[in-house]
Amino acid sequence: MSLTLADARIVTPEGVHEGWLTIEDGRITHVGHGSAPSPGLSLGGRHVVPGFVDIHNHGGAGGSFPTGEQDKARDAVALHRRHGTTTMMASLVTDTLDGLSRAASSLSELCEEGLFAGIHFEGPYIAKARCGAHNPALLREPSPRELSGLVKAARGHARMVTVAAELPGGLDTIRTAVGEGLLAALGHSDADYDQAIAAIEAGATVATHLYNAMPQLGHRAPGPIAALLEDERVTVELVNDGVHVHPAMLRLAYEVAGPGRTALITDAMAATGLGDGDYVLGPMRVHVTDGVARLVEGGSIAGSTLTMDAAFRRGVRELGMSLPDAVQVASLTPARVLGLAEAIAAIAVGKAADLVVLSAELEVDGVMKNGDWITEP
Ligand SMILES: [Zn+2]
Repeated sequence: MSLTLADARIVTPEGVHEGWLTIEDGRITHVGHGSAPSPGLSLGGRHVVPGFVDIHNHGGAGGSFPTGEQDKARDAVALHRRHGTTTMMASLVTDTLDGLSRAASSLSELCEEGLFAGIHFEGPYIAKARCGAHNPALLREPSPRELSGLVKAARGHARMVTVAAELPGGLDTIRTAVGEGLLAALGHSDADYDQAIAAIEAGATVATHLYNAMPQLGHRAPGPIAALLEDERVTVELVNDGVHVHPAMLRLAYEVAGPGRTALITDAMAATGLGDGDYVLGPMRVHVTDGVARLVEGGSIAGSTLTMDAAFRRGVRELGMSLPDAVQVASLTPARVLGLAEAIAAIAVGKAADLVVLSAELEVDGVMKNGDWITEP
């Protein structure tokens, strides 16, 4: 069955044009300018952008991926899909090795179903001084052997590991991760500039939420932020919620890394899509006030209540991105990080029909995944 979406403002990496597209068997089969050759569903001039890709997400709608509970994970995925995220990672926080293995094994079944693009171990190989909302008692020295065990538990779906490269075993663990086909991310780390460069040389290609949980940018001690920003091999994650990082610092990072190396992430946790109140992030108790999640003990920021559509809107409004650039940082660049840029994340012939229809105010009016409406516009 073929579906034509007509009278659309189509956002591609090259620009925005008025036109139409057809979808068949879950894929985009034509993209045209002007009026459609056959009648279809008119979008009344609304924007169509590729579905968002979130490479760092812990849950939502009350569900927390670190618990491994499948029904709650499904609720969280459904929430994020309604907000335009059609591809997402399941990020775990530090837990015991047993706890991580159990969660990874459980979530691997949802990866098989296509709910997640993979599993991200954000802990336990991170620095105590930069552990943020991770349980400091459960942190471990990076261990290639242990990591291989976690990768096995994820049954082919482990996709990323965050490592504090300066810890003993850090660089070896990064090398092992890359050897196992994972993305190695530097983050929750006390690395200095040189140690960050060593991490990148060892194979780290992602900065876990740049700025957060790492030494600050300093003019004599540039720290990891400068190393991560200036190296062409690294993609930097940014939490664009107005809480994690000041907009001026987001603009600074974006100016340096550009849309090709910037990935907007949510770092969302269970409270996303719900109200303020008490939640958990892995084994840690979290209280959410005015949408800001903080640990009950110590008050560290504990993930966000952000959704990708809001991050996208803020990209345009607060960071001054053009629509094609905002699409790139919310979709194409994170897809490239995951190795999926050929298959998804652009409105082009042959790509999966993962689409978001946006109102003039850039609010989500419709979401399609693999040619099926999640929300019909
Ligand atoms: Zn996180």
